[in-house]
Amino acid sequence: MSNTIKPMLFHCLQHNHTSQRLRVIQCSPHYPRPLLWGQDEQGHIHPLPLTSDFSNKWSIATSPGLFARDPARILGCLLGGAAGDALGAAVEFMSWTNILYEFGSQGIRAMTKAYGRKGAITDDTQMMLFTAEGLLRAVVRAESRGICHPPAVVHHALLRWLLTQNISPTTNVGKDGWLIKESALWARRAPGNTCVNALRLSSSFGEPAVNNSKGCGGVMRVAPCAFFSGAFELASDTARLTHGHPTGYLAAGLFADILQRIWQHSMSLLEACSSSLKEHGDLPGMAETKTILELVLKLHQEGARPTPKGIEKLGGGWVAEEALAIGLWCALCAHNLEDGITMAVNHSGDSDSTGMIAGNLLGLIHGPEAIPAHWLAELELREVITQMAADISFVPAVYDDNENTDISLWIEERYPGW
Ligand SMILES: [Mg+2]
Repeated sequence: MSNTIKPMLFHCLQHNHTSQRLRVIQCSPHYPRPLLWGQDEQGHIHPLPLTSDFSNKWSIATSPGLFARDPARILGCLLGGAAGDALGAAVEFMSWTNILYEFGSQGIRAMTKAYGRKGAITDDTQMMLFTAEGLLRAVVRAESRGICHPPAVVHHALLRWLLTQNISPTTNVGKDGWLIKESALWARRAPGNTCVNALRLSSSFGEPAVNNSKGCGGVMRVAPCAFFSGAFELASDTARLTHGHPTGYLAAGLFADILQRIWQHSMSLLEACSSSLKEHGDLPGMAETKTILELVLKLHQEGARPTPKGIEKLGGGWVAEEALAIGLWCALCAHNLEDGITMAVNHSGDSDSTGMIAGNLLGLIHGPEAIPAHWLAELELREVITQMAADISFVPAVYDDNENTDISLWIEERYPGW
C-alpha cells in the first residue's frame, strides 16, 4: 500500500477498512481546496478532501472490473468511439482494394497518419464532444431556470463546433465554457457538408434542419445522449437539427436507445437491439432502419462475420441506417473491442463513422481498458474526452443551483446554462 497515492480520473478507489469502492469522477487540486469526488456502486456521490491521511484510508484498486452503470463505461463509450474514428480516419476515403494494397490482407490495424498526425480524430469525435457539452449545459439550464429544451441547447453547442471550423453561423453564438477553448478542437477534419450547411443556415436554436438528408452525420455523434434520460428522443431531436430525412434522425435515436439499454439495464447488445426495435421499429419513418438492422441480426444469427466484401453488400455507411448497421454487425460479431473496431474500419465506405459507432458500443460494453494501449497512446484529444466522460457523471449529480455554491459556480463557468 502506497502512502502517497495520486488518484486520477476513473481510478477505482478502495477503502482500506470497509472495502467500499468508488470511481473517481472529478479531481480539483486547487478549487476551492484539494478535493475529489467518487461515485459508489449504488451511484451515490462522495466528496473526499485530499487531506494528509487520505492514503491511510484509501488505495487505488488494480484491475477492479466494471460495476453496473460504472462511470468507466461512459469513458469506454466515448474513448472507444474516438479510437474507432481515429483508426478509420486514415482510410475514410479509400476503397478496400486500396486499403489492401497499402496495409496488406489484415487491413489497417494501427493508428496511421491522417491530417498530419497519427491518431487524429475527425469531425465525428468533435461533434460528439460538442453534443455532450450541450447536454450538460442543458442540465445546468434546467436546474437553474427550471425550464429547458435540451435540443436547443445542444444546437447552440453544435454552433460552437461550427465556429471551430472557421465558419460563421447566421445566429449569435456564445463562446463561453471550457470546450471551445481547447485549441486542438479548432481543426477541420473533413466535416460533412450537410452538418455544415444546416448549422450555418439555422436561424434559431432548436429549429430542425430544412433538408432531406439521411447522411450518417446525425447518428455518428449522439452516443452521449445514452447517459441522459430519454435517449431516443434526445438523439433523434438533436440529429434532426442537421438531418431532415426521418432515417437520418430516427437511426440516431435508435442507436442512443440501444446504448442506453445496455447502460441502464445491463442488457447484452443483442437484447438491446431486439428490444429497441420492438419498441421503436414500427414508428413512421423507421422502415429503412428496421429493415437493415433486421438483416444484420439475421446475419449474426447465421454466424456470418463481417468481411470487407460482406460490409459492402450492406452499403458504404455514408447514410445513417447503413452506418448503424455496419457498426452494429461488427460489434455483435466482435471477439473483443479491437477485433470489432478493426472490422468496422476495413471496408470501402465511411470508415471513421462506422469505426466510431462500433467503438461506442464496444467501449460501453467492455470498458476503457479493452482499448489497445498502442491506440490510446496516440489518440488525439484523449484528455479532453476523458474530462468530458467524467463530467457526464459529475455535473448532473453535483450541480445544485441552491446549495454547494462554490462547486456550482465552478460548474456554471464550465457549462453555462444556455
Ligand atoms: Mg469524419
